[in-house]
Amino acid sequence: MIVECDHVLGHESAGEIIAVHPSVTSLKVGDRVAIEPQVICNECEPCRTGRYNGCEKVDFLSTPPVAGLLRRYVNHPATWCYKIGNMSYENGAMLEPLSVSLAGIQRAGLTVGDPVLICGAGPIGLITMLCAKAAGACPLVITDIDEGRLKFAQEICPGVLTHKVERLSAEDSAKAIVKTFGGVEPALALECTGVESSIAAAIWAVKFGGKVFVIGVGKNEIQIPFMRASVREVDLQFQYRYSNTWPRAIRLIENGVINLDRLVTHRFALEDALKAFETAADPKTGAIKVQIQSLD
Ligand SMILES: [Zn+2]
Repeated sequence: MIVECDHVLGHESAGEIIAVHPSVTSLKVGDRVAIEPQVICNECEPCRTGRYNGCEKVDFLSTPPVAGLLRRYVNHPATWCYKIGNMSYENGAMLEPLSVSLAGIQRAGLTVGDPVLICGAGPIGLITMLCAKAAGACPLVITDIDEGRLKFAQEICPGVLTHKVERLSAEDSAKAIVKTFGGVEPALALECTGVESSIAAAIWAVKFGGKVFVIGVGKNEIQIPFMRASVREVDLQFQYRYSNTWPRAIRLIENGVINLDRLVTHRFALEDALKAFETAADPKTGAIKVQIQSLD
């Protein structure tokens, strides 16, 4: 995944069909669709066993050298275009990050009534929080270093408990987190930061036999509290992209089970894409998701 020349970013997109190949029967011109940004080989072991996010020959749009979706037009296989009916294009694009969260929740095995910790209130953390709530997590706690993000989390997910991360050791941080839970140790931590200190605190915080499920990506190598995990039988599990999530994600949005309407905080025209990136990169803007729209 090394950028070696000019590269087109973007893997969260929705749009309108403007042409179809004569062989395509599932879509017609004018259909509104969301794009799953991976094109797989259908032949390798992960593909043949349904875990195609592990495809050895995948073309993942935006991962170098494959161009991404930040452009007006894309030629994409019909099978990876999902009809979204009347759903807004904004939500259509949000099906991608929602897919990340759904894949994580499913693999983590969240069960109704589980006390769940969400580490990080960035876009994936917030969406994962909404999914965990819908899946019956109770109590549900979300952490972040930014109070504005925690306030936002409470606005979009009434009842969620928030925990501001302070500069403490992982062990003390975990004690503070368990206090926020009212003394209950979480059964599951959904780690959405990929930050070493956050993963370590999560390992310290979960109950005996609990699980730390890392959705975020991080450094190539990190240190973990190995013996704490060992003597407490803490499972450590990971997620890479997603498979088979779009139909599920579309159902959840269409039926109002998950509402992502408030996550897009800023919108820019394609011509102003640079401003969009500056806004997304500047914490002072309060941006959660910044969308670039090319409607003509
Ligand atoms: Zn494959």
